[in-house]
Amino acid sequence: MNSAIIFKNVKKSYGKVKAVDGISLTVPEGEFFGLLGPNGAGKSTMINMLAGLAKPSMGSISVMGFDVQTDYQQARHAVGIVPQELVFDPFFNVREMLRFQAGYFGRGKENDAWVDEVIDRLDLRDKASTNMRQLSGGMKRRALIAQALVHRPPVIVLDEPTAGVDVELRQRLWAFIKDLNKEGHTIVLTTHYLEEAEALCNSVAMLRSGKVVASDTTKNLLKKFSSKNLKLRLDLKLNKQLPSNVKRIPHEITGNDYVFELKKIADIAKITESLNAAKIEILDLQAVDTDLENVFLKLTGKEK
Ligand code: ADP
Repeated sequence: MNSAIIFKNVKKSYGKVKAVDGISLTVPEGEFFGLLGPNGAGKSTMINMLAGLAKPSMGSISVMGFDVQTDYQQARHAVGIVPQELVFDPFFNVREMLRFQAGYFGRGKENDAWVDEVIDRLDLRDKASTNMRQLSGGMKRRALIAQALVHRPPVIVLDEPTAGVDVELRQRLWAFIKDLNKEGHTIVLTTHYLEEAEALCNSVAMLRSGKVVASDTTKNLLKKFSSKNLKLRLDLKLNKQLPSNVKRIPHEITGNDYVFELKKIADIAKITESLNAAKIEILDLQAVDTDLENVFLKLTGKEK
């Protein structure tokens, strides 16, 4: 399989800050890839380097076989980036802006049907003749997504595209991006919404302090770090205490809810039997599976 993106021992420092601290990473062509990490982990720096907006202090990066520094032009053509911030040219309307952008990447009139399709798919038709500066925040976001796609790049990078975006646009956007992935586009997504990464990405890399702390298929990561939790609602009135053998099992308490981390399924019997013996009533019982969020918290040890 060919590689869409290769990071080879990439480092980037800003003064004393090691924003990216020796990252090697390969994203195969056609992948739906998630780049996850808490704030300051180095995600934007990686994307800026991929787009040629920041220069690595060390190492090399290529997109579709083109080095982002030595083959800048081709590498830049191969990638469409949806930026986090709403930056735009205030003088164009939406369609003009999209045509201009496509033209910048060497696509002329033959691309107009695609411009219309992108406008349609992002539900921008009513706003196609509206000046960019008059669009609402949500509409601006749609226009910027359209802008990244308009030259039909094989690699599409979405940097926190759904932060502050309403549910409807989020779903519309994901449907569109999933279709583009099915058609063969490689997708890279950075997100804080781990459920989103879990639902969409085939593989993920988790970053922390400029380093990759885990990188695998989403499925394998979940399997590797899987642990079952048992959630019990207990009636602990009358100053009753958890039996000591139950207390020893790692757990978290929220109100009457106790979530125990199970090492093995047999722990369930141990807990419930001990509670019964202590005459502590179990009001509700639920098994909870690991999700990407748990894996993430375990690996980064930080709030998301
Ligand atoms: P993320 O996107 O994961 O939140 P960033 O890549 O934005 O992380 O930041 C990684 C680290 O690099 C942070 O400590 C940040 O403050 C620092 N950093 C990023 N860009 C710059 C810059 N242009 N100048 C100085 N420091 C920067």
